[in-house]
Amino acid sequence: MDTFDDTQRPFPLFKAPIAHAALDGPGECVRCGKHVGTRFQDACYDCFRTGELDTVMDTEFGMVTRDDATAGRTHGIPLNDPSALNGYTLTQHPIDPRFPDDRWYHVHIDPGHLAELLRTPKYHTWQGETWLFCCQRPMVFRGSLPADIFTDDPDLLPSEIEKFLDAPDWKQTVEDGHGSHTYYVFTCSVCGALRHHDDCD
Ligand SMILES: [Zn+2]
Ligand SMILES: [Zn+2]
Repeated sequence: MDTFDDTQRPFPLFKAPIAHAALDGPGECVRCGKHVGTRFQDACYDCFRTGELDTVMDTEFGMVTRDDATAGRTHGIPLNDPSALNGYTLTQHPIDPRFPDDRWYHVHIDPGHLAELLRTPKYHTWQGETWLFCCQRPMVFRGSLPADIFTDDPDLLPSEIEKFLDAPDWKQTVEDGHGSHTYYVFTCSVCGALRHHDDCD
């Protein structure tokens, strides 16, 4: 099963089968007008990679728009205990008088890392993407894995996922008959950590 690397259209943050990416079908690129077989947010690969399109990515630290990326921060998330995000610089939103108990925080991430995230395809999900971070930057997406090919034991799950990624059998991930429960798996390009989030229909 092809990855973007196999088709010479690499994405540093998306190292998973093309079949796991949320893409647009054949048509004209919204930016240059060229007719292409696969589009990214309605644009050809080259135009999408310029980073000049108006794209948005949802993350565990909140939405990231182009303005957010330029400002070097996410739109933000509510946090009861900001120390839970140890190691990240946070800026608190002004308190909304309609919701005086809510505390929202922007999470600061290098603008270059966020710009790269916005020129990366989203992955298919049931409930929407939640890009994960590690070592102060977006992690690398490694694939969408049906939960029912792995153990139910949460302690053993990480090592089973790691084993799968060492020698991935991608065909298994797109076969019919899997339940909807899916693990979206990421690795860190700095420390090698493996993380995932999950959802179902
Ligand atoms: Zn184009
Ligand atoms: Zn890391």
